[in-house]
Amino acid sequence: MEANDFLSEFGLSRTAIRTKLVQILMDANEALSSKEIEAFLDDNIDRVTLYRTIKLFEEKKLIHKIVVDEQITKYRLIKPNKNTEHPHFHCVRCDKVVCLPDTPLPCCDLPEGFSVSNQNTIIEGTCQKCNK
Ligand SMILES: [Zn+2]
Ligand SMILES: [Zn+2]
Repeated sequence: MEANDFLSEFGLSRTAIRTKLVQILMDANEALSSKEIEAFLDDNIDRVTLYRTIKLFEEKKLIHKIVVDEQITKYRLIKPNKNTEHPHFHCVRCDKVVCLPDTPLPCCDLPEGFSVSNQNTIIEGTCQKCNK
């Protein structure tokens, strides 16, 4: 799928920054932080526009946000028809974050009258590269 098709799929018009952002996220094999995204962009990029675009993508559910801790927040494109309710793996050495879409979320026995609205499961360890 092309970046522009992706945008129209979600009812968004094309702008240079939107297309570029989708392209970057499509090419990545792992979730990216806003800092990592910035590194792919020209130095003269308007950061306000970039952050606004990330926010818009999040609202429109093109991307999902993965919060590892106060320092690390990453974003990953949502593939059409894929669920975002999945655990994530965080490498404690290189801070790589990957989605584990085929791993079911652990469920819990909630106390009577409680209900779940959001589940954020982060599995920590070391990635293949760091294990070498
Ligand atoms: Zn690693
Ligand atoms: Zn994910």
